[in-house]
Amino acid sequence: MSRKSKTPSRRQSTEDGPSTKIDWNTIGPDFSFEVHPYPPPNRKRKRDDLTEPQAQENPLTKKIEPMLYCVSPQHLWEDAKRYRKFTIARETFEVNDIILVQNEEDDPAPQVKSSKKASSVAEFLKNKWVAQVLDVRAGDEQHVYLRVYWLFRPEDLPIGRQPYHGTMEVIPSNEMQIIDAMTVDGKITIKHWDEDDDDADCPSDYVYWRQVFDTRKGKTGLSELRKHCVCESPANPDNPIVQCTSCKTWLHAECLEEEAVKRAYEKEGAEYPGEATTNGEMNGTKSITKKKRGRKSKSTGRSSTGQVALFKAELVSPSPDGDETTWKIRVTDLRDGDGEENMINIRCLICDAEID
Ligand SMILES: [Zn+2]
Ligand SMILES: [Zn+2]
Repeated sequence: MSRKSKTPSRRQSTEDGPSTKIDWNTIGPDFSFEVHPYPPPNRKRKRDDLTEPQAQENPLTKKIEPMLYCVSPQHLWEDAKRYRKFTIARETFEVNDIILVQNEEDDPAPQVKSSKKASSVAEFLKNKWVAQVLDVRAGDEQHVYLRVYWLFRPEDLPIGRQPYHGTMEVIPSNEMQIIDAMTVDGKITIKHWDEDDDDADCPSDYVYWRQVFDTRKGKTGLSELRKHCVCESPANPDNPIVQCTSCKTWLHAECLEEEAVKRAYEKEGAEYPGEATTNGEMNGTKSITKKKRGRKSKSTGRSSTGQVALFKAELVSPSPDGDETTWKIRVTDLRDGDGEENMINIRCLICDAEID
């Protein structure tokens, strides 16, 4: 993969226009193009770097403003022949494909065999970057370049991964770059998850996007997501969410579980540790009712404040052949060793109707 060069020899003359034939053999393997958002940075530039700005729409969505950009050195970019397709290690890629790009931070990138399994794809995303091909240009076989828009993994955002970001989530952006085609390491399909469509399947086993990121706005560049529940926050599709049959509000499993724990405390006349703590945070039962992926909570029975929790709650999904035909919450009494369990019906946190 690594193509070492001795001296990248850049073409010296800037007097010739793009019409002059360029000998790509004189272009070193370490050579790279640069993309500048337009207007270009305020510094003295070579004559041939002054390009006309181009507008690039994001092929995935019109929700992000097109980037106005210019490429330098322009004459080489213009000289390179344009293609619809390119082939790396016998795999053919096309314009608009979503590609995986080697992440140089991980060295060497662990080899994960291509698999349809969700966990493998999630594993894959840990070690690769994701981009969409916008333009393929080649000077010759050794000089193939791709102009791409990056799709951010949540952990690569300026604000980092948020609680609502799913494992399989990527975020289209208007961050553009020109990369060497040799850094491409496979392709994936992604789907758009339309959160406003209540009938749309909640993504669980494929890579999806719903949010967009305007990189020019930095930390404030992330688009708004649909808010749910009494807590008015977005949903993480890795965690269950239940819709009230009466008022149609979607409720987070975590919030329903917290409410169930609270009620159990009230019933026993015990003080609920989740409220009115000294620092004013809801830190009582969150830590023990919080779900891990796979919903195997390793409960220590101890809250983050150090108090011993009396109850824990877990949302139980209806199973066609099981005991439960509707969503229930299993409340476990942690005070004795047996862990007495109670299945309770769910009440909406907004309208108080029973959910069936
Ligand atoms: Zn909530
Ligand atoms: Zn309701």
